[in-house]
Amino acid sequence: MIAERARFKHARKIERAVGYRIPDLAFHGATLDAITSRLNIDRLDHVLHDQILAFLAAFLRCTCREAPHCGCPEKKFAAEIIELRENGLDHRQIAAFLLEEYGITVYPADILSFLEESVHVLEAVRDIAALQNQTGLEAAAVSHIDLIER
Ligand SMILES: [Zn+2]
Repeated sequence: MIAERARFKHARKIERAVGYRIPDLAFHGATLDAITSRLNIDRLDHVLHDQILAFLAAFLRCTCREAPHCGCPEKKFAAEIIELRENGLDHRQIAAFLLEEYGITVYPADILSFLEESVHVLEAVRDIAALQNQTGLEAAAVSHIDLIER
C-alpha cells in the first residue's frame, strides 16, 4: 500500500495543534482520527492550514460508517497517484506535487515501484478480461497501462 509510505512533513506542527502525540504516517489510523476530530485547524500556519484542508477534501470525504477507518482514504490516495501519472507527471514530479499540495512526503522510488506494481495488476486484469471476452474491461485496462507506461 503506497499510503503506508506517506508521511506528513510537518507532523510535529500538526501534533501541537492536536494536543497529543501522533505518528508522522499520514494514513495511520491515529493520525486520521486526530485530523478528523481533534485538530484545531486555526492553530496551523497558513500553508499547513491549506494543505490539511486539501488533504481532507481529497481523501476524507466518504460517508462510510467506519470512516476514516473504512479504507477509502488509502484507496483515494493510490488513485490520485495513478491519476497524476496518467496526466503526465513522472514519479519525481508526483512526489513534489504531493509535498506542495498536501504537505506529504513519499519517496519517488516508492512511487515508481507502486506504479510498476499497478501496471502488473492491470496486466493481470487485461489477461483475465481477454479470457472471459470482457472486451470493455480489457480495453480499459490496456488504456490505463498505456497511460501509466508512456
Ligand atoms: Zn469510506
